[in-house]
Formats: sequence, C-alpha cells, structure tokens
Amino acid sequence: MYDLIVSGGKIVLEERIVRADIGVKEGKIVAIGELSSCLATEIVDARGKYIFPGLVDCHVHLNDPGFTWREDFCTGTSAAAAGGVTTVIDMPLQNEPPLFNLDAFSKKARVLSGRSAVDYAFWGAALNYNINDIKELHKAGCVAYKIFLAPVSEDYQTLGEDTVARVFKETLQFNGLVGFHAEDYYTIKKEENKFLNKENCSWQDYLTTRPLSAELTAVTNVIALVRETGARAHICHVSHPAVAALIDFAQREGLPITAETCMHYLVFSSTDLLAKGAFFKCAPPLREVDCRERLWNYVANGVLSVICSDHSPCREDEKDVSLHGVFCAWGGISGLQNTMQLFFEYAINQRKYSPTLLSKALSANPAKIFGLYGQKGAVKIGFDADLVIFDPLMPWIITKDSLLYKNKISAFIGLSGIGLPVRTILRGKTIYIHGEDNAAFYNGCLVIPKD
Ligand SMILES: [Zn+2]
Repeated sequence: MYDLIVSGGKIVLEERIVRADIGVKEGKIVAIGELSSCLATEIVDARGKYIFPGLVDCHVHLNDPGFTWREDFCTGTSAAAAGGVTTVIDMPLQNEPPLFNLDAFSKKARVLSGRSAVDYAFWGAALNYNINDIKELHKAGCVAYKIFLAPVSEDYQTLGEDTVARVFKETLQFNGLVGFHAEDYYTIKKEENKFLNKENCSWQDYLTTRPLSAELTAVTNVIALVRETGARAHICHVSHPAVAALIDFAQREGLPITAETCMHYLVFSSTDLLAKGAFFKCAPPLREVDCRERLWNYVANGVLSVICSDHSPCREDEKDVSLHGVFCAWGGISGLQNTMQLFFEYAINQRKYSPTLLSKALSANPAKIFGLYGQKGAVKIGFDADLVIFDPLMPWIITKDSLLYKNKISAFIGLSGIGLPVRTILRGKTIYIHGEDNAAFYNGCLVIPKD
C-alpha cells in the first residue's frame, strides 16, 4: 500500500524522460513503474504533464531572522513552493548576526522551525573572525561557506587572499565547499572613487564601476588558490561568458570548481538596466546583450552547471534612486518564484534544449554540489518524494499579484511564456496547487547532509 501514487506523468530524469507511475510511502519514493491505483490512499493524475524533481535553489536571501521587512521564511518559502522549489539554501549574510557560529546556527534553526513551506539548508559565513567556527558549523549541518571578494554591506566582510587561503585550509579538512561573490574589491573601489564627487550619477556610471575585469580578476585569483590548496570552490552568479571560459579552463584542468548563473543574466542585459533602472540593479551587473547567447552555451554544456535565483528582495523604497542614488539603491533581484517557468520558457521552448537540462541545472546538480543528493535532486527510489507536476502547455504572465513575496516587486514582472508548475509535492504532501487558495502550512525541515 502506498500513501500516494502520482500516475501517468512523464518523469524528467537527468538523462532521459520516462512515462511511469511513482509510488510514495512515508515521504519517500518507493516505486517507479506501472502501479495499480487501488494500492494507494491518494492518487494524483499527472497525465499530459511532466514530473520534475523538486527544485533546489542553492542561493536565496530570505533574511530571517534579521531584515524581515524584505522577506521572511513564511513568505519566501510560500513563493518557493509556488515556483516548484522544494529546498532552499539560505545565505548567511543578512541576518542578525550573520550565521557565523554555532549559536547563530541554533538561533536560526529555532526561529525558522514551523515557519517554512519547503525544506531548507544553510550556508555558513566565512569571515576573518570565525575561521575557527567553520568546522563546528560543518558538524551542525551547514552545506557551504560564503566569501565576499567584492565590497559588501556593513553586515558582512570582504576577505583578502590570505584569509581566503586560511578558510580553504579549514574546509579542506572535511572537503567542504566555499562559495564566492567574485568581483575584485580594488578594481571596484578604484572605479567608484572617480564618481565620489559627481552628483546625479547615472546607471552607466554604476556599470562603469563594476567592469568585467573585476569579475575576471576575482575568479582568476580563486582558481589560483584552488590550484594551490585543492579546496573546493563554487563561483556564485557568473554574469559573463568570459568568466565562464576561465571556469571551463579550470574544470578541464581537473580543479574542483563549480559555478552557477541566474535567470536574470540569461534573460536581461545592461540595456534593461539603462532603460528601466533600479529593479534591474544587481551585482555583478547585467552585461551587454551580445554576451547572453554565449552564456547560454555554458549552461547547456554544463560549465555553469547550476541555475539559482540569488533571490535578493527589498522594500520598494529601497530601490528609489531619488532617495538613495544609483550607488546606494538596493542591488538585487527577486526571482525565487519564477526560475522554473522562466527556464522552461527560455531554455526549452525558445532554445529547444531538453527538459532534462532543467532537471540537472535546477535540481540534481545543486543537490550534488551541496551534498544533498540521495535525499534531494532526483525522482529516484529512496529519494524524498519532492515532485513538481508541470503543465508544459499552461500560459503565464508574471504580474505583481501573482507573486507571493513580502514585497511584490521583481524585474521579471511583465514577462510571459508557456509552461508552469501546477502542483508541488514535498516529501509526499501537496504544498501548492496552481489556481487554488493555498492554505499555507509549514512542514519544511532543516536538511542536514549525510556524510
Ligand atoms: Zn546573493
């Protein structure tokens, strides 16, 4: 007897698509094949639909505890569920304090308990004052450690090369993963100094201060340190194909470097920032339109093996240039809810890639890189029954009202396409149905990787 059978759908595995039923018991996938419906307590008919593994968004800023006027776990993970995301990996840097030691870990786990619609894991911080805490954070369950090489807000720290090497020395002991915001601090500061006394700076000025060379320099330095130490590194939000080319080269050399990009770099360009302003501000910034196709190539060939949202919400007034100017207006794009539908539209409908690329880049690869595979990341026997029933024919338009974020602002508002998650299942329980009034319930758990 199964608790649930999802019947008749096309299951999107990493390398192929198969039509089969899925049997679920106690939250796990226990059977895949032709199953008799009289053997189940609940049946979900998935004929005509794809079944994807629940997505793993490995880079979100839900700000909880901390800056919860921007987002909190209830709103952020409800949006995740609507977007087919069943696991979020939350960044450490915008909490009070950042997730830098065991106390901060425990506090965060306590605050979030019973307030998440989806499962979640934690990034830990890597700062110059917490290097001795990293091993304990690993034991507690952090899946990776975040380093900023670029200028960052007062809540966090930019690290220099010596400190990065010390962090690598720690993480190497347990084969841990270090993620990088890879833009070179000095390149950016040098450019910013030119605008210190200028009034009414423009978006072009902002772009000038975040040149491609800053990203290339930072990634080159990370690669050199990885070559020297053998530690694992993950480059966050790669914005430009020239950066991906460096990573490609390092991967061919056999260095343990992985990388991600985000839908905003694959859909928009600097032209959008120049024309439409602050909602399109992010760092690294959007690049020239002619880079975009080459960036897609690196997604298709697996050099940029992960797509994540880098969901970076804020209140609308924090984006107001008349109040803050282009340099201090909030930089970040909210995308957690829309990554799956955007990827399906731009990768599968428009560029004719196989849906298996979605399963890999949005679920299996992040699960593997962050140590959650086996539990998360695939529709396979023994894995958690995290499933997305996806209607490839359902048209959509992203409107303000469709967003479940605390602040309903996003660069993606106004975009349209075909193909939408219509039901999201977390460990065998339906947590979202498209078009229904979804009573939010919060059964999401902290996921600890199994060593
Ligand atoms: Zn981020």
